[in-house]
Amino acid sequence: MSDPITDLIHHPYQPPATFAAPQPGVFKASTVFFADVAAMRARDWKTKAGYTYGLHGTPTTFTLEERLATLEGGTDCLLVPSGLAAISLVAFALLKTGGEVLIPDNAYGPNKALAAGELANFGVSHRFYDAMDPEDLAAKLSDRTQLVWLEAAGSVTMEFPDLPALVAVCRERGVVTALDNTWGAGLAFAPFDLDGSGQGVDVSVHALTKYPSGGGDVLMGSVITRDARLHQALKLTHMRMGWGVGVGDVETLLRSLPSIALRYEAHDRSAREIAHWLQGRDEIAQVLHPALEGSPGHANWQRLCGAADRAAGLFSVVFDERFSAEDVDRFCDGLRLFRLGYSWGGPISLVVPYDIGLMRDASVARWPHRGTLVRFSVGLEAVEDLLADLAQALAAL
Ligand SMILES: *Cc1c(COP(=O)(O)O)cnc(C)c1O
Repeated sequence: MSDPITDLIHHPYQPPATFAAPQPGVFKASTVFFADVAAMRARDWKTKAGYTYGLHGTPTTFTLEERLATLEGGTDCLLVPSGLAAISLVAFALLKTGGEVLIPDNAYGPNKALAAGELANFGVSHRFYDAMDPEDLAAKLSDRTQLVWLEAAGSVTMEFPDLPALVAVCRERGVVTALDNTWGAGLAFAPFDLDGSGQGVDVSVHALTKYPSGGGDVLMGSVITRDARLHQALKLTHMRMGWGVGVGDVETLLRSLPSIALRYEAHDRSAREIAHWLQGRDEIAQVLHPALEGSPGHANWQRLCGAADRAAGLFSVVFDERFSAEDVDRFCDGLRLFRLGYSWGGPISLVVPYDIGLMRDASVARWPHRGTLVRFSVGLEAVEDLLADLAQALAAL
């Protein structure tokens, strides 16, 4: 008999290995035990054949990685603490001093800020290109280009690029492409097979914070590939940066992932109905929603996503220029169901007003609108209630 304190730690009860239940087991670990020194020395943390340390994965994180790779049509997946960490993991793994990264001018803002901050400090330059013009991308590729970012639809302004054309331009020059696939979520189109013949992007990053979580409560990101060499490079950087994820958050994602397609379609249906309704309002100069005719890149959306007919729950509107930025702020403040807040993909509808002029690189393409832009993330409320909320806030203008 040892001291109860020791017995409590070396307890004889072990949970059954084959406990069958809908949800996978939640394994939390920094330390993982080895049977003997030989086993410790033989274990390779770079493969999924065994477990070495919590930071390198647990049965729970491996389960989520497998499911996300399946969702997006890739073979390997790495989890990181946020969508932005997924973007920086790709940058740190694939860019070297003296190289250059090309970023669409309508990309997720913090991706551009990372390039202007840490990447510039490390001697990596960046240029912005017009995502709607594959020739502009082709003209900006050089011997120094080490990575090209893609995003569909563009953040906030929602232009839908000709992804297969942009990927073809990069493939011809042997440049690695990375797609921010948060909007498509693996549901609107297949990032690794854009044209049905297996041509696709090299890397897909996904802010799991959005639709995979669906709750507005978890931050996580994924980096998915189908190229073993690329995955190894990303895995080594992932390890050296030490970007582990909390297993409680992984558990939450495993709980919400099975309903992602249902939720995505519900957000999509409501967003399209509200976007159509706003198109008919004279306060609104333009609705920017890739599935709506007349929206920039609608034909590109139709070609890539028309078969699945999916388009997320996100759109923006440009107010008529007779309304000042202050008027539009008052419109946002006047909404009751739509809350003010960043991010998207959760059950509660959100709005954010943006000054696009401040977000764009003047040398790329002029932002054509003068009115203020408001980005809507449509939640899971009843559409009639959301329309009534918008109607009362517009009436107060
Ligand atoms: C939200 C978002 C991210 C970043 O995700 P976080 O988890 O908030 O860091 C990256 N890209 C896009 C397009 C996003 O919308």
